[in-house]
Amino acid sequence: MNEKSQEKLEFSLSLYPDPVLRKVAQPVGLFDDRLQSTVAAMFERMRASHGVGLAAPQVGLTQRILVLNPTGEPKDDLALINVSIVERSGPLTSFEEGCLSFPDIYAEVKRPERCKVFFWTPEGERIEREFEGFTSRIVQHEYDHLEGVLLVDRMSPADKARHKPALAALIERYKSRALSGSRK
Ligand code: ZN
Repeated sequence: MNEKSQEKLEFSLSLYPDPVLRKVAQPVGLFDDRLQSTVAAMFERMRASHGVGLAAPQVGLTQRILVLNPTGEPKDDLALINVSIVERSGPLTSFEEGCLSFPDIYAEVKRPERCKVFFWTPEGERIEREFEGFTSRIVQHEYDHLEGVLLVDRMSPADKARHKPALAALIERYKSRALSGSRK
């Protein structure tokens, strides 16, 4: 497939329980213009949705691509391609997480404080880096998406019970959209 380098992509969010969110994402093979456009469009979607992180399955792509920005400053944009977490360390900390695929649902999730990752930049440079605090939290949340693991799997039984009506509403919304087909 021959893509034009100036092609502008636009993504919409895949919401729970869209089955694409349960797929294990596949490694990116080509570091080409298409990847650059995908990353740019993912950043755009993330910002427009007021998110701090976004994984490719959340825009319907089963590819191992994450974008994140813990501060909102353009200089802190981070795109991780074919990322793998090689080590998680530090104490387990609890933090209230949200997810763009679960609008208006927040739940406490426990995760290790630090993570060490290998990834490639969109330009194909291989990098090893350790993250801690909020950035580590985002990386671990978004990495879950690449494995098909979702916020609903990480929340406590109490939170799951508390959010049952909201989760049911998302399922209903998904079903009615699926029934109406691709009509916008
Ligand atoms: Zn998420």
